[in-house]
Amino acid sequence: VAQRLSRKTILITGASSGIGRATALEFMRTAPDVRIIATARRVDVLEMLKAEIREAAPMVEVLVARLDVSDAADVKRFWEELPAEWRDQLDILVNNAGLVKGLEHVGDIAEEDVDIMYSTNVTGLINMTQAAVKIFKARNTGTVINVGSIAGREPYPGGSIYCSTKAAVRAFTESMRKELINTRIRVAVVDPGQVETEFSLVRFRGDKEKADAVYAGVEPLTGQDIAEVVVFVAGRRENVVIADTLVFPSHQG
Ligand code: NDP
Repeated sequence: VAQRLSRKTILITGASSGIGRATALEFMRTAPDVRIIATARRVDVLEMLKAEIREAAPMVEVLVARLDVSDAADVKRFWEELPAEWRDQLDILVNNAGLVKGLEHVGDIAEEDVDIMYSTNVTGLINMTQAAVKIFKARNTGTVINVGSIAGREPYPGGSIYCSTKAAVRAFTESMRKELINTRIRVAVVDPGQVETEFSLVRFRGDKEKADAVYAGVEPLTGQDIAEVVVFVAGRRENVVIADTLVFPSHQG
């Protein structure tokens, strides 16, 4: 696997926390000469990740870039500013940035919460993918890994917006995979169950007590557990597509 991933250029969205951060570190551990484009809105946190990687694996190149995937203009700016030696060499896109805001029922959901979940989880992911697939098509190689959620398969009350964004990620990924059959471009979705990250804190708008209560008495997955799956999917032979993966902690079903 180290050989297959050697010198690959990997773009991760939402690399400042949770699953995205763990994924950057897992790529580093698996192939300590990869090239990582670490993106998110919090560049200061990404700079700390870069320093950590430099210390642990000096051969790994890291490019830190500010990127708000929810803003189409910012996505455009990001691709325009990305140096050609990174952009044109892109091998793997991990669309991980995503969030849930609130648990209100339909009729009570704030318009801005609908907007932020759709623009981040759906439109942002689509815009990033479109740009990457153009690059992949020019070289007939590349891998897109989208982080979905069990929520996209099993909608729950209070999750109408979040669950439908993740169902959209599934459908988008599956359509694209079928479009790209017979190419060397692979497309996959990884759907996590409950993972302990900053995700719950965002869902409960910063209320740590409520966020912590989600994991009380259970042993959730860690970002690392999902990162290992993402890197496994990316590290297969080029004609092996692990199209769809569901990862649960053992208490969840
Ligand atoms: P975290 O909140 O820990 O991480 C989310 C990441 O997304 C952060 O790095 C954040 O960075 C980034 N992000 C959020 N909004 C934007 C934006 N507009 N533009 C760019 N980056 C953004 O949560 P997780 O690691 O848990 O979440 C990662 C993915 O996993 C999400 O897609 C989520 O839906 C999915 N997931 C999570 C589950 C869980 O239980 N935790 C379960 C199933 C799926 P920054 O704030 O710096 O921009």
